Amino acid sequence: MRALRYHGAGRLAIDEVREPSPKPGEAIVRVVSCGICGTDLAIRAGNLKRVKPPVTLGHESVGYVEALGVDGDLKTGQIVAVEPLRWCGSCGPCQDGNVHLCVQLTLLGVDADGGFAPFVSVPVEKLHGVPPGTPIERIAMAEPCAVSLRATYRSGLRPHGSIAIIGGGPIGALAALIARDVFHAKQVFVVEQHRFRADILRGMGFRVLAGVEAVEAIRSETSWGVDVALDCVGTTESLALAMEATKSAGTVTLIGLHDPTISFPLQGLVLRELRFVGTRIYSSRQFSEAVALLASGRIDTSPLITKRVPLELAVDDAFNALARGEDLMKVVVRC
Ligand SMILES: [Zn+2]
Ligand SMILES: [Zn+2]
Repeated sequence: MRALRYHGAGRLAIDEVREPSPKPGEAIVRVVSCGICGTDLAIRAGNLKRVKPPVTLGHESVGYVEALGVDGDLKTGQIVAVEPLRWCGSCGPCQDGNVHLCVQLTLLGVDADGGFAPFVSVPVEKLHGVPPGTPIERIAMAEPCAVSLRATYRSGLRPHGSIAIIGGGPIGALAALIARDVFHAKQVFVVEQHRFRADILRGMGFRVLAGVEAVEAIRSETSWGVDVALDCVGTTESLALAMEATKSAGTVTLIGLHDPTISFPLQGLVLRELRFVGTRIYSSRQFSEAVALLASGRIDTSPLITKRVPLELAVDDAFNALARGEDLMKVVVRC
């Protein structure tokens, strides 16, 4: 079969590789689509030093159960989303129940062969099924949706509360959908400069703001700021904006990791008693919840998938297009 593999900094290729066969406790998934995320671009750029080439990338895969190496509830032909996390179960964070913070955490599609291929081998407990007849593209964004779901929980957003989301890429857009359609937030603001993405979000009914007017508009349309802000960018500027948009005693949740080190307006934290919360990936339960929300149609991600590229063309038409900053939101590879 053909697979999109990482061969070291700057080098991706479509290679001929052996099809996986099911090991005990695992299933073979026939991949229908696999989304491209910022992490894939960071790996390709050589910025994730732990990744050992050659490896098949892709950690946002959905497909059908093709073969099972174990008896259980799953059936061949069932539609599934693949949860890519693997943890050790014995380190401190794992023992505390925070398996997503495992000191040896690995991801399918980063540390082991993933979903940019027609078939992938996955431990059965990492497969999340949906009811028969569910249109498979509904769950194509399950993995990033789980990230945004955890971030929204971590933010402490309450029903009928207000939220400002800094950065309207896929993670921010999914958080906006979750805030409105799951948490029933009264006010959802998205701050996004990129015209193409801003237009998509406006089309989905969100209040989209840009630049310096954003803080002023948010303050005037709320009681001096939102209850919670979610920084999906992670720069000095985006954090300052998130803090200024948040009311005193509100919460700023950090998810974006654009710059490893940023400067930080300390006085805003102390004098206005802001709370800061970090959020990372998701728990298995939250992954399941994200899959169920998408499968039921409560969250409609269809406006966010703006390009579908066949595997053979994924390097040029998907990875290079994203790296060039073309007008794109979520790009999925059809395997
Ligand atoms: Zn990702
Ligand atoms: Zn662990």
